[in-house]
Amino acid sequence: MDTPTLDISIVIPIHNEAESLPGLYAELTAVLHALGKSYEVIAVDDGSRDNSVQVLKQLGEVDPHVVVVCLRRNFGQTAAFAAGFEQARGATVITIDADGQNDPADIPLLLNKMAEGYDIVSGWRQARKEPLLTRRIPSAVANRIIGRSTGIYLHDSGCSLKAYDWRVVKTVNLYGDMHRFIPAFSSWMGVTVAEVPVKDRARKFGKSHVGFSRTFRVFLDLFTLTFLLSFQGKPMRLFGSVGLVTSGLGGLILAYLAFLKIFEGALLSNRPLLWLGVMLVILGVQFLFFGFMAEMLMRTYYESQGKSIYVVREIIRTSESANQRVNESAGVDSLNR
Ligand code: UDP
Ligand code: MG
Repeated sequence: MDTPTLDISIVIPIHNEAESLPGLYAELTAVLHALGKSYEVIAVDDGSRDNSVQVLKQLGEVDPHVVVVCLRRNFGQTAAFAAGFEQARGATVITIDADGQNDPADIPLLLNKMAEGYDIVSGWRQARKEPLLTRRIPSAVANRIIGRSTGIYLHDSGCSLKAYDWRVVKTVNLYGDMHRFIPAFSSWMGVTVAEVPVKDRARKFGKSHVGFSRTFRVFLDLFTLTFLLSFQGKPMRLFGSVGLVTSGLGGLILAYLAFLKIFEGALLSNRPLLWLGVMLVILGVQFLFFGFMAEMLMRTYYESQGKSIYVVREIIRTSESANQRVNESAGVDSLNR
């Protein structure tokens, strides 16, 4: 992982937003220019079918701050963010939607909060313009679940306007529609997160890419996320405990039936309880073996990719002579991917 060479990287995922781009670019440039910091604007075209790419190329020709990343096809917003993060050279990486719903004028607010020492500052959209039932209620529920399982309570994890310390975006691996869960997912490496209220504007051009179906996808992602966060690194704890309880229960039932058989000469062939006991024991043993498999998979996952089970914030060495002998630890390497 290279150290940042700029102050700020703005990452914008773009899919068919040609009409919105000039306005957004003008607003962004005004705000960033006024900050007086070095910056780049990474525009990630996610396989647009309109002339977004041409518009971006024109902007890139006149303004060296603009970096255009063109994906080969439409991979989705999360992938677009990931592609932007890969290219980012700024110490602070700020994500913003291309449709103009986020207001670039809120960027200084995020930066001020970051300056207080946070790793992630998330926008919290005030007076949301989206429908209550299909968008706002599901998102409130999702935020509550995330808070419970990660200890990171955000009012609005779906807000794209967020600022990240570069180390965060260079360390997380994104899958599915997980971009909204970066703060939650980063909780495993110990991040500090803050929120600032931001404006939510209506889309001027084009239409939203997602409907109600996203709610289901987000909830499935949420399920994966809570599972990974609680049991990644120790899958046997989950499968093993379920297995022990199930086979234990089955064992008790079978012991009880054995007692009846031996001491009271009961006939067992007409007892449904017998089947239940047998099933539970088999199921429990299966769970235990599944736990073993998951443990092996997990080790393969970490070891094959040189991943580490920890992330180092910094290494402080007091004596120079000790430097030579201390081996750079695996955790630092994993940040350097
Ligand atoms: N987007 C993208 N790829 C996609 C879908 C969306 O890059 O496959 C971009 C889109 O251009 C916009 C942002 O992601 O900049 C958010 O999309 P949208 O406004 O449709 O989502 P909403 O604001 O309705 O959640
Ligand atoms: Mg939008």
